[in-house]
Amino acid sequence: MIAIDGPAGAGKSTIAKRLADRLGFTYIDTGAMYRAVALWALRQGVNPSDMHRMEQLALAAEIELTPGRIRLNREDVTETIRTLEVSSAASKVAVIPGVRRAMVAKQREIGERASVVMEGRDIGTIVFPNADVKIFLDAQPEERVRRRYQEELLKGASIGESALAEQMQERDRRDSARADSPLTQAPDAIYLDSTALSIEEVEETILKIVRARVTNGKEIS
Ligand code: C5P
Repeated sequence: MIAIDGPAGAGKSTIAKRLADRLGFTYIDTGAMYRAVALWALRQGVNPSDMHRMEQLALAAEIELTPGRIRLNREDVTETIRTLEVSSAASKVAVIPGVRRAMVAKQREIGERASVVMEGRDIGTIVFPNADVKIFLDAQPEERVRRRYQEELLKGASIGESALAEQMQERDRRDSARADSPLTQAPDAIYLDSTALSIEEVEETILKIVRARVTNGKEIS
């Protein structure tokens, strides 16, 4: 179990996917799960901050992760959950303890069944505090915005860079300030700042950490 946590735009998904490929592990994007629940709320007209109704939705949501795809109640929502509206709603539903309990239970179930690289905000702290390797992947705020902005441009989104920066800041603030499972570095996580590094360099750095653990007799599964 390899846990990767960090703020938006730090490169978690890209790196976690590549590591999973290299190691033959399953890649689990936990943010996609919160996004799926948020999408359902938006479609149903449920306020993402409504604790009671959101907990019910989270418990009822049938979320299925297959390599590279996510399904919500049997519908493929892989692309639909990637809008800025869903990003923002996801960070609101993620504040609710009942929603988190439901998601964490699903994540533990997946992680116990398979060798995974799991990325999110609370994987090394709450979901799998005994993960074999924990990485806290960070990057300077300007660089994180720059990366996200490039992604948005490719998708043809029409948001300006400063509006995006503001939205990311608000989301990171909400993720870090919430009472239940805030975004923080686990004491035994390795901090990695990817600002000046290429994707390959980040990948190699983490692979070295994984190999060092294995050489020291730790079994990574
Ligand atoms: O990782 P991603 O940006 O897709 O996550 C969307 C939102 O889901 C985050 O802003 C955060 O509020 C929430 N999240 C979380 N815990 C996780 C993963 C994501 O609270 N493990």
